[in-house]
Amino acid sequence: MNNKSLFYCLIASSMVSSVSAVMNIVLDYGDTSAQDISSYGAAFTAAERFWESRVTGYIDQGNAAPSELRIDVSLGNIDGFAGTLGTASVTRVNFLGSFVEPTRGEMTFDTTDIPFYGNTFPGTFEDVIRHEMGHVLGLGLLWTFNDVYVDGTGQYTGAAGLAAFREEFNAPTAAFVPVELAGGAGTADGHWDEGTNFASNGRRLDDELMSGSASGNMWLSNTTLQSFRDIGYTVVPEPAAYALWIGFLCICRAFASRSKAGNSAA
Ligand SMILES: [Zn+2]
Repeated sequence: MNNKSLFYCLIASSMVSSVSAVMNIVLDYGDTSAQDISSYGAAFTAAERFWESRVTGYIDQGNAAPSELRIDVSLGNIDGFAGTLGTASVTRVNFLGSFVEPTRGEMTFDTTDIPFYGNTFPGTFEDVIRHEMGHVLGLGLLWTFNDVYVDGTGQYTGAAGLAAFREEFNAPTAAFVPVELAGGAGTADGHWDEGTNFASNGRRLDDELMSGSASGNMWLSNTTLQSFRDIGYTVVPEPAAYALWIGFLCICRAFASRSKAGNSAA
């Protein structure tokens, strides 16, 4: 469910002049009720810290290095029980060296579904927040702009992510990381593939945090982590060795994509 739409015209890198090499996710709750913030804020803060401790900053630095990644959080009814659990989008980006980096995004969650996490739905609410936050960081949403994926191919080719995939999923000759092509817009072209036999130490790719549907324990693979390096971030742990990837950017506009989560896809 990846309804990609033209959202923003050029966001010039000169628009943001703050210099920071450190990842700083800022959650903006907008008009979220105090009660909802009280009930769910801890899960959001935990997800923020989860990513900030792993996706730590920017490979390229300079005037366009985002001083923050501001994420607008909305809690409310989307479609009642099940169906869509949450959505994510990137709404603003900076051009930073060889990369396109998000500076603002949105996440929306269906509060009707929250009581059912860990029971009817796999994982926890925090897992689903992590998943949507991973999209706002760029996984799936900024792949094409960072030249690591071509829509419709099902083949992620970012060097660091692919190297990690080959190692942890025992696929030394893999030419790409398989990307989901099923599930319709919002799932296709924005997640790791479901329905393969890839597994790492008994953990299935199907159950991974950023696969196309929410299942299992939603574990974080090194493939996901290292893929953030491919789109311009420093990560922990850094890869032991990686091929430096240099992208070619001739983008005159930025897209925002909306990633919706189905009852089997977050
Ligand atoms: Zn998703």
